[in-house]
Amino acid sequence: MQVQSTRGGSGADCREAVLKGLAPDGGLYVDDSLRERFFPWDEVLFLPPLKAAARILSHLLPDFENMDEIVQRSYAGKFDTPALTPLVRAGDHRILELFHGPTSAFKDVALSVLPVLMTEAKKADHDAGKTVILTATSGDTGKAALEGFHDVEGTGIIVFYPDGGVSPVQRAQMVTQPGKNVKVCAVSGNFDDCQNGVKRAFAALSENKELAASGCALSSANSINIGRLAPQTVYYFLAYRQLLDMDDIRLGDPVDFVVPTGNFGDILAAYQAKQMGLPVGKLICASNANRVLTDFFETGVYDRRREFLRTTSPSMDILISSNLERLLYLASDGAGAFVSACMKALAREGVYTVPEEIMARIREDFAAASCNEAQCAETIGRVWRECGYLADPHTAVALHAADKWKASGQAAKAIVTLSTASPFKFPGAVLSAIGEEAEGDEFSQMEQLSRITRLPIPQGLACLRGKDVRFSDVIDGSEIENYVLNTIRKGEI
Ligand SMILES: *Cc1c(COP(=O)(O)O)cnc(C)c1O
Repeated sequence: MQVQSTRGGSGADCREAVLKGLAPDGGLYVDDSLRERFFPWDEVLFLPPLKAAARILSHLLPDFENMDEIVQRSYAGKFDTPALTPLVRAGDHRILELFHGPTSAFKDVALSVLPVLMTEAKKADHDAGKTVILTATSGDTGKAALEGFHDVEGTGIIVFYPDGGVSPVQRAQMVTQPGKNVKVCAVSGNFDDCQNGVKRAFAALSENKELAASGCALSSANSINIGRLAPQTVYYFLAYRQLLDMDDIRLGDPVDFVVPTGNFGDILAAYQAKQMGLPVGKLICASNANRVLTDFFETGVYDRRREFLRTTSPSMDILISSNLERLLYLASDGAGAFVSACMKALAREGVYTVPEEIMARIREDFAAASCNEAQCAETIGRVWRECGYLADPHTAVALHAADKWKASGQAAKAIVTLSTASPFKFPGAVLSAIGEEAEGDEFSQMEQLSRITRLPIPQGLACLRGKDVRFSDVIDGSEIENYVLNTIRKGEI
């Protein structure tokens, strides 16, 4: 099956798209046939989680065979609960916990699968070369990708993170990563600088003869890769099933999902679930103080010309949400030239405007709300006091948006809020939000948080302290291209 490029250039089959990441014209691959292709969503709901995952993934990536086996290899033994993504109650809230994987962030759900998909795609294409994964991270993707790709045959991975722009725990998770095919490097600037630098390196190196001669091909583990997006679609089905089991809804009732959003990947995966037939009402895009998307949904103007704010929810500190490009393509019925013009305007002037007619279609499926730092802390404190539920700052942004959405009077009867990280990844912010004075470094703070709340520190975080730091390079965004070449030349990955 062919997927299309959002910029109107040539398409690719799913295996090729997973291996390449980005389309050669700079666009993102997207499946514009989801709404039409039949999918028995109501049968799939009643399968066990891994079986349901395999069916959904087969539909989204039909060029892959043995999806049952791929899913088994991806998840077996990696998550601390057989439900994979449990739905829990906290007062009136229904919270879908996505952080039960090895790195305690929701990125694990997809990055457990992507390396297996890549390995399978290479096998099918008799590709003996090395796939080098370049990843820009705002904190969580980096570690989840390292965890997924380390020591995977035929791959190497280089992760770039904004220097000072990730939490100390996130940094420690990355710079202590074992494996003989991994490299981690800090980039001066913020996440957008990092992501832009990586995109530029991709473009510059796509025709590089030295790389080609060494048998290396670049790819991406960011949510621009369709192999990242597809596994994220699965848990919207799993959430729906759990609401049925709790007697919160009846089969066919619409459910709204509130999604803490950065690069717009997670919420786009929800849109895919809706296109596949799952009864999804509205998708609420929750932003932190970097509310570029909230403004976009209100006005139709996407304007990144504003101050980049560092918040306590760093994985959402983003002004350029890559995956919005996919929504523009789908909502404009595949107008590649239009999407291309928007993206050029964004790169050149930092702003683009979407015509009202397309915005009206987008607003049928999406709404948006933002949450500032004070509201985020207030939410963590209140939900802890009133419901005994400890939310991380990203989750709190979404809980705040869920409250606003409920208060608007437009909400469906059932609302699910996505929880994307363990509170123990951000112990300082969480301690202060529940009215405690954080003590010592982040590792002491984790223990303090655990003592006070009587909740256990997730295994992967508890063992970080005292691990050797393996990576300490800091470079400028403009040096990424050379850094990649040198790393490959020296055989470091
Ligand atoms: C990546 C991330 C997000 C944002 O997800 P997108 O798919 O980029 O919108 C939210 N919360 C956490 C904890 C994350 O790691």
